[in-house]
Amino acid sequence: MLDRNNELAAFDRDHFFHPSTHMGSHARGETPTRVIAGGKGATIVDTNGRESLDAFAGLYCVNVGYGQTEIADAIAAQAHKLPYYHAYVGHGSEASIQLAKMIIDRAPDHMSRVYFGLSGSDANETNIKLIWYYNNILGRPEKKKIISRWRGYHGSGVMTGSLTGLKLFHNAFDLPRAPILHTEAPYYFRREDRSMSEEQFSQHCADKLEEMILAEGPDTVAAFIGEPILGTGGIVPPPAGYWKKIQAVLAKYDILLVADEVVTGFGRLGTMFGSEHYGIKPDIITIAKGLTSAYAPLSGSIISDKVWDVLVRGSDEMGPIGHGWTYSAHPLCAAAGVANLELIDKLDLVENAGTVGAHFRKGLADALAGHAHVGEVRGDGLMAAVEFVEDKDDRKFFDPSLKVGPQIAAALLERGVIGRAMPEGDILGFAPPFVLTREEADMVVERTADAVEAVTAKLG
Ligand code: PMP
Repeated sequence: MLDRNNELAAFDRDHFFHPSTHMGSHARGETPTRVIAGGKGATIVDTNGRESLDAFAGLYCVNVGYGQTEIADAIAAQAHKLPYYHAYVGHGSEASIQLAKMIIDRAPDHMSRVYFGLSGSDANETNIKLIWYYNNILGRPEKKKIISRWRGYHGSGVMTGSLTGLKLFHNAFDLPRAPILHTEAPYYFRREDRSMSEEQFSQHCADKLEEMILAEGPDTVAAFIGEPILGTGGIVPPPAGYWKKIQAVLAKYDILLVADEVVTGFGRLGTMFGSEHYGIKPDIITIAKGLTSAYAPLSGSIISDKVWDVLVRGSDEMGPIGHGWTYSAHPLCAAAGVANLELIDKLDLVENAGTVGAHFRKGLADALAGHAHVGEVRGDGLMAAVEFVEDKDDRKFFDPSLKVGPQIAAALLERGVIGRAMPEGDILGFAPPFVLTREEADMVVERTADAVEAVTAKLG
């Protein structure tokens, strides 16, 4: 096994261009190749037989956990029966039509259609095009700008990478592109004026948004996009009153709202959608990851009746919509989606995400909130983050070159648990599979506290 691993590592270094990886250090062999061989429940195992409890569910996507044979069997059965047929010109497979119905049954009442893609990025790309199409049909060709938030994550394509509000995804790519703008992140812990209450800070964010809309001209602003809870930007729940105040501004200027529920869709916050959880009434919802628990790549744009009615009018005027992917509603992925949503219901996993999530977050807070270098423990449902600071009272952040967050994630991995060092700031994030048990949650807490202690003791 060792020889085979060495051989694979060499092939990997020489031929595999990895996403989100330091290319030079990986090619030089300074960072190891880890070949994942299998998984069961919340635990994965590599080809050296080393197990890790995956407290980030891959990339917050393997929501039902690893090794669910019902989903694997459904994909295999579909592959034997019909591996592929396209969805153009009114075609579908039994699985894709059934899945569309299952999604709409679970979505908020005012949504009625789903457009399928393959990734969160392409779904948001679809959303941008549909929003532009919508305003063209309404005779408002100037209303095209889209406002996103700093620290939002919406993909890494040209337009969706522009929507993403993280410098790493813009630097050296000539992004963001017009007509995409970014407004303030609803990040209460990092607010400038520390005298503000949560409600006041939410009002401040809504005021900033309104200022931007007025400066740009309301007739030029088409849509606002946001994750119900910031994910990759730091796992930051919205401050009290945030979504209510933001929606009031959007309604005032006739601006569409896209809820990017790629992470929160299908249960992660203990409700089927994050929109339900925070009282958001979106015009479009982006879904991906949890739709299939990543057993196969599939995404979607859930469309409200209000938007759909205009899109239909568009085709009556202009003919078929000129937007489609070869793999839209791919039958294998749709079969995975049907089996995944059935399994979530059967195992009561939305409920479990809520209850085990609350237990896990309380455990983290009890173990870490008092630590001298922990600025905040936060989260909601089965998403949690610990943010590290040099000085708690002054809210002084560490010098980024110390890489405190990545060091703690590495120390945790050595202790058999996968958390994620979020890309901006010293933030350790968690988003475990919904099948996580209380015992596993306690183990993650204990090992995290140990890893934090080991790294911060070295820092002095
Ligand atoms: N939106 C959100 C909220 C995400 O977290 C992600 C991926 N992390 C995406 C969109 C993009 O999805 P993908 O990587 O499948 O393109």
